[in-house]
Amino acid sequence: MAVLVFADHDNATLKDGTHKTVTAALALSGDVDVLVAGKGAGDVAKAAAGIAGVRKVLHAESDALGQGLPEAISALVVPLMAGYDALLTPATSLGKSFSPRVAAKLDVAQITEVVEVVDGSTFVRPIYAGNALETVQSADAKKVLTVRATNFKAAAEGGSAAIETIDAGPGAGKTTFVGQQIVKSARPELTAAKIVVSGGRAMGSAEEFQRVIEPLADKLGAAVGASRAAVDAGYAPNDYQVGQTGKVVAPELYVAIGISGAIQHLAGMKDSKVIVAINKDGDAPIFQVADLGLVADYKAAVPELMDALAAA
Ligand code: FAD
Repeated sequence: MAVLVFADHDNATLKDGTHKTVTAALALSGDVDVLVAGKGAGDVAKAAAGIAGVRKVLHAESDALGQGLPEAISALVVPLMAGYDALLTPATSLGKSFSPRVAAKLDVAQITEVVEVVDGSTFVRPIYAGNALETVQSADAKKVLTVRATNFKAAAEGGSAAIETIDAGPGAGKTTFVGQQIVKSARPELTAAKIVVSGGRAMGSAEEFQRVIEPLADKLGAAVGASRAAVDAGYAPNDYQVGQTGKVVAPELYVAIGISGAIQHLAGMKDSKVIVAINKDGDAPIFQVADLGLVADYKAAVPELMDALAAA
């Protein structure tokens, strides 16, 4: 069985989700190749070649691939799949965007958000906002999977795969790239961060969110997250949202401040290793998943925590 892993990157850096997806791929087969599709992504291809267990890196370059246009990526991937039995991509926005196109063109069912590979045709994935896990068996000749990277350990470094330059494919067709707005942040990326500090509706304003959540996150070297209520109220940007309709995170430490713990929020963070909750309502559902819970007003608790961290 030959498996193709689509590399997650920003043309400069290979993202950790690729290493984790390679781990999922290696559970399927020992023949794992990585596709680096980008523009000026030579360093990414070299980094992918250094992942232990990778057989070969396919490297394709074009403007449209560098811009992450799903039309261009799927047009590149579909013919490549003639030589592969499975395509695995991290379940990022881009992965979720191009892989259904590939599955449709191959006339197979896409299997999304895989959290465990049981065998070459059997996979485990969450349903009902993460409240149940279903085991699905695919009879399709080719498998197209998006992988919830947070559920897999990163494959080690130490590989020395060959890099093969391939044609960039037919491009994006009628789709053209207009522009993108990328939020620049010195903080770690939310889905890859080891620590996440999240704020909820209790913050009451964007100013309060920035005053309370962001300094604590910076003190801990953490990424900042938010509940949907906080995002909808304009306290935090959209891309901070954690949960069923936001990002799924599984950091070493997740700190939820003024977040009730609605089922849709838990769907995005309950696999975190250690969950700390600060909430003034002792009956808040967040305490049912919290490893450490503090029933307190955040206005008193967070400054005390900042003082303790400063003294540590
Ligand atoms: P609230 O539920 O209002 O909770 C605020 C909490 O702050 C309360 O527990 C309160 O006790 C506490 N509090 C108030 N003041 C203080 C204080 N001074 N100190 C300490 N604690 C205090 N939500 C998500 O987060 N992510 C999603 O992806 C998401 N997707 C959704 C998808 C669908 C289809 C639907 C229907 C809903 C979704 N939601 C999602 C919304 C979700 O149901 C909740 O409404 C939301 O998570 C609530 O956010 P919150 O906990 O910040 O606010």
